[in-house]
Amino acid sequence: MSLRELLKDKKRIVIKIGSSSLTHEETGRINLSKMEKLVRILTDIRNQGKDVILVSSGAIAVGKETLGLQKRPTEKVEKQACAAVGQARLMMVYQKLFAEYNQIPAQILMTKYTMINDISRANAFNTFEELFRKGVIPIVNENDTVSTDELEFGDNDTLSAIVSALIQADLLILLSDIDGLYTDDPKKNPQAEFIDYVEHIDTNLDNMAKDSSSLVGTGGMATKISAAKIATASGADMVIANGEDVSVISAIVSGENKGTFFKAHKDEKFILLDYISTKQYSK
Ligand code: GLU
Repeated sequence: MSLRELLKDKKRIVIKIGSSSLTHEETGRINLSKMEKLVRILTDIRNQGKDVILVSSGAIAVGKETLGLQKRPTEKVEKQACAAVGQARLMMVYQKLFAEYNQIPAQILMTKYTMINDISRANAFNTFEELFRKGVIPIVNENDTVSTDELEFGDNDTLSAIVSALIQADLLILLSDIDGLYTDDPKKNPQAEFIDYVEHIDTNLDNMAKDSSSLVGTGGMATKISAAKIATASGADMVIANGEDVSVISAIVSGENKGTFFKAHKDEKFILLDYISTKQYSK
């Protein structure tokens, strides 16, 4: 069986979706048909008996829209206010859509402090496990409203990898606005080749990701590579795929060749806390 086909047997899957995938590009408002489809797909995977975790961004984006702001806030306090409004609205929409399929979602908001503090981390872990036993789909986001510069994850790529490591997920799917990893920016370089499989994250790939000019998309590839290091070292396979059509999730979990696949290499020396406190993970 190919590595891709083995993805059919995954038991605990984390799926990360970003704000740009959840909102309409033209207006910034919630893309309801996409959310509806996402919820149906997640429920279907849950119905196959797998544990499903959704890491969903969108709190600030939805809050900004709800409050009628013209542009994304730059000031911290305004961002935090937007997140407070938007997170509640986002969950309201998720609750409504999941209810149509008789699926119960839950909200888990985390900060770095949740992970650094031994008791909070144990509580978070126990809550996840209890929710899985009860058949619930946890929806995770950073607790933007209270997080501080020093103790914030800052991006949900990192957060989703850390959640994967915490709950020992065996697959992390990062939905992005690009198809996956390329050797160069395909918009600028027609010779750019798509990379569909990454066996090891070597320095070459690391440097490529750091040099944003050589990579496609809105940047953020460096955080995705960093997320891949955490996820694969903790024992999860990871796939970066285009979230434009969320049915790519079903395709990936049925073993189809979509996006860029990073193979898990469980590293016994990997200590999640080391990564979280230093924000650096290199083997
Ligand atoms: N936590 C932020 C939000 O929900 C998004 C962070 C990210 O997209 O990486 O708005």
